[in-house]
Amino acid sequence: MPKYVYDFTEGNKDLKDLLGGKGANLAEMTNLGLPVPPGFTITTEACRSFLAEGALPEGLEEQLSRHLAALERRMGRRLGQSDDPLLVSVRSGAKFSMPGMMETVLNIGLNDESVRGLAKQAGGNERFAWDSYRRLIQMFGKTVQGIDSELFDEALERLKAGRSDLDLQAADFQGLVETYKEIIRAETGEDFPADPYRQLRMAVEAVFASWNAPRAVLYRRQERIPADLGTAVNVCSMVFGNCGMDSGTGVAFTRDPGSGQQGVYGDYLQNAQGEDVVAGIRNTMPLQELEHLDKHSYDELMRIMEKLENHYRDLCDIEFTVERGRLWMLQTRVGKRTAAAAFRIAVQLVDQGLIDLDEAVTRVTGDQLAQLMFPRFDGGAEKKRIATGMNASPGAAVGRAVFCSERAVELAAAGEAVILVRRETNPDDLAGMIAAHGVLTSRGGKTSHAAVVARGMGKTCVCGAEELEVSAEERRFTAPGGVVVAEGDLISIDGSSGEVFLGEVPVVPSPVVEYFEGAPVGGDELVAAVHRIMSHADAVRRLDVRANADTGEDAARARRFGARGIGLCRTEHMFLGDRRRLVEDLVLAGGDEERERALAALEPLQRADFTEIFRAMDGLPVTVRLIDPPLHEFLPDYTELSVKVALAGDRASDGDRRLLAAVKRLHEQNPMLGLRGVRLGLVVPGLFAMQVRAIAAAAKAVPGTRAEIMIPLVGAVQELECVREEAAGILAEAGVEAAVGTMIEVPRAALTAGRIAEAAEFFSFGTNDLTQMAWGFSRDDVEAAFFSRYLELGVFGVSPFETLDRDGVGRLVRIAVEEGRRTRPDLGLGICGEHGGDPDSIHFCHEVGLDYVSCSPFRVPVARLEAGRAALTCAGSDTR
Ligand code: ADP
Ligand code: MG
Ligand code: MG
Repeated sequence: MPKYVYDFTEGNKDLKDLLGGKGANLAEMTNLGLPVPPGFTITTEACRSFLAEGALPEGLEEQLSRHLAALERRMGRRLGQSDDPLLVSVRSGAKFSMPGMMETVLNIGLNDESVRGLAKQAGGNERFAWDSYRRLIQMFGKTVQGIDSELFDEALERLKAGRSDLDLQAADFQGLVETYKEIIRAETGEDFPADPYRQLRMAVEAVFASWNAPRAVLYRRQERIPADLGTAVNVCSMVFGNCGMDSGTGVAFTRDPGSGQQGVYGDYLQNAQGEDVVAGIRNTMPLQELEHLDKHSYDELMRIMEKLENHYRDLCDIEFTVERGRLWMLQTRVGKRTAAAAFRIAVQLVDQGLIDLDEAVTRVTGDQLAQLMFPRFDGGAEKKRIATGMNASPGAAVGRAVFCSERAVELAAAGEAVILVRRETNPDDLAGMIAAHGVLTSRGGKTSHAAVVARGMGKTCVCGAEELEVSAEERRFTAPGGVVVAEGDLISIDGSSGEVFLGEVPVVPSPVVEYFEGAPVGGDELVAAVHRIMSHADAVRRLDVRANADTGEDAARARRFGARGIGLCRTEHMFLGDRRRLVEDLVLAGGDEERERALAALEPLQRADFTEIFRAMDGLPVTVRLIDPPLHEFLPDYTELSVKVALAGDRASDGDRRLLAAVKRLHEQNPMLGLRGVRLGLVVPGLFAMQVRAIAAAAKAVPGTRAEIMIPLVGAVQELECVREEAAGILAEAGVEAAVGTMIEVPRAALTAGRIAEAAEFFSFGTNDLTQMAWGFSRDDVEAAFFSRYLELGVFGVSPFETLDRDGVGRLVRIAVEEGRRTRPDLGLGICGEHGGDPDSIHFCHEVGLDYVSCSPFRVPVARLEAGRAALTCAGSDTR
């Protein structure tokens, strides 16, 4: 028979899977000798069984009664005993804290008799007893019976009629109990259960069942919490903060979760119970004032908080209650904190000798570092906040409000910064979103279309700012307090906090970016903390970090940010702008001679580009990818050109006619799967050879260069062999050494990697294409069309373009790594898809044993940090 119930004395903080976070930590505090009201925890296993069977598992009731009886003996009173009742709280508590589940019912055990016993227990304090009773009915009705809480709140407000809750007397609360009972009768058709054991049992079952409440299910999907964990239930004997002004309840942090500043932070509320502190029923007082009210409790609290910090070796948050001068601890956990606080605290703890630098690196995340790198609104500037929505995609954006996509595009084309404001966005808004500096919506959550697309584009977004009334027809929105913002008015949005401001708030660059750019560490505590953690991450990581960079300027920035090479230098960007004409000449070339002339014109330009990049990287490896996109991408738009030629009629130039014919000839139904990459190299004679010659010449011009030539879109070793032979000849002739390798981005390449490695000195995983081809969808088409729906449905917890899909695409990567290395043990292995900058994907790359990740220059610091964290936390870190 499984053990379903653990006394607080039996558990510990490492049993979160079984006891939930709250239960595990209550046990830990109990065992530390801290004053925790006695109680016990019913395990998540019991919950899982309840959810599977639809009934409490066999043996649970017997164990429950045994633990309850022991608790009653210990407390010297029985649950709900009419003359001297024991009361308990029933508290949910999963492994991960989860809003959306049933929370807590306090004061279980009260009924029309025991309420009088409670008053007697409290020295005749009738007001306290009736207040506790009405709270029980209210919480029970709301959380166990699912009655709309407004009904109870409204009744209370009517009773208060403007008075403070402190002005209410025993008789008021007694009357309220009757009103609340009426509500329960009206809503459920039954009386409020007077039997204390029935109350307890119903509450326990309701907590279990709430695991599958729609809100909880949705929350888990969004946060990628497994659906089958179940929740624990904590039954805890009651202590009372609501029995007079010498009692109260509070919350506190062992240091400031906003800034990381050392020192105790918290709020306290006299004569109050449970959530009153956070519910804002009265103004709370800063915790420091407790020192004057009740020095003894305050000093003890300080001692306990110090003990908790030293024990957990981290910032803790706590809930506590003072009952007539006696302090009780009701909850603790390692507390949430801002990104800046995370870095500061990690380093402070190292200095205090509580953790070492290895651990400090694991205490911060790449996402937190990325947050610190966004430009921010000047903290000192005066701001007028008009609304707060969800912080959907970080950054600080200032611009003119526009209410439709067309206007956004127009104004942006005229050089204006704009913020696209919509009730919610849909695929038609895409052009406007691209044109805008930021996106603001009044509806939808963090997985709404606006949020998903904005995050994908790295664009600042605040969504679901429900206080705003957006009218696209009238081209304006209104905010509370009669504020009206019309088209063209300036607004500022903070995607990191979700705030919306009127007017232009000045933006300052992040000091952390200035540090990465080379500014000295100086006296800034945050920058100093980032510096120490980054230095250590660099020291421990096994993965190298390279950057995707196509220009000398990007390459130089990437180096400053710590990249040790370029993992992807795209050559097609070098064919844009004025050089388009040269590509047109190439496409239109009538014969070998014309084509060679066109290529000859391109060659010196390419050579100059490569020379600039090789110089910037100064001997670090540079992987140059030969041209990848289909040639028609460099030609004019088919429709536009047709119209032009048609309008010109007889006067249309011969060049335009030929161009139109070429565009028509090259048109493809699915360009992504068409004539591109290595296929292009094999059908356009001389194209790849020209690029290789340019690389060889540039490498010669910059001594010490380590060029690597990368062939895109290879699916068969034969393709690679053809190109490789030609390249080898050119390199030998030029007397230049360069590795030749391939992208692995077509599933067939991954599946035949053992063969491909015979012709490739290195593989670089192009996980953007590999993801598209493995899933069989085109990113440009699907992201806006149905990704938000797929996220809602939980088909995936996160877009596979953001985080590498380990099960599918990751499997292809594993196969290629294993089979490639079997053929060629010194095969170089890297990744150059956008996943190279994504934390979870970087951990995967570490696990499968790649040599490096390559990402956009701006993500390089994030990748360095995550590579360090992966080395410290991942299993299988020594696959080589
Ligand atoms: P949450 O997970 O929402 O924090 P809790 O289970 O911690 O829910 O309970 C809600 C409130 O009730 C908290 O303020 C908590 O401190 C208080 N509380 C819970 N159990 C007791 C108890 N046995 N005695 C007094 N207050 C309690
Ligand atoms: Mg709590
Ligand atoms: Mg590709």
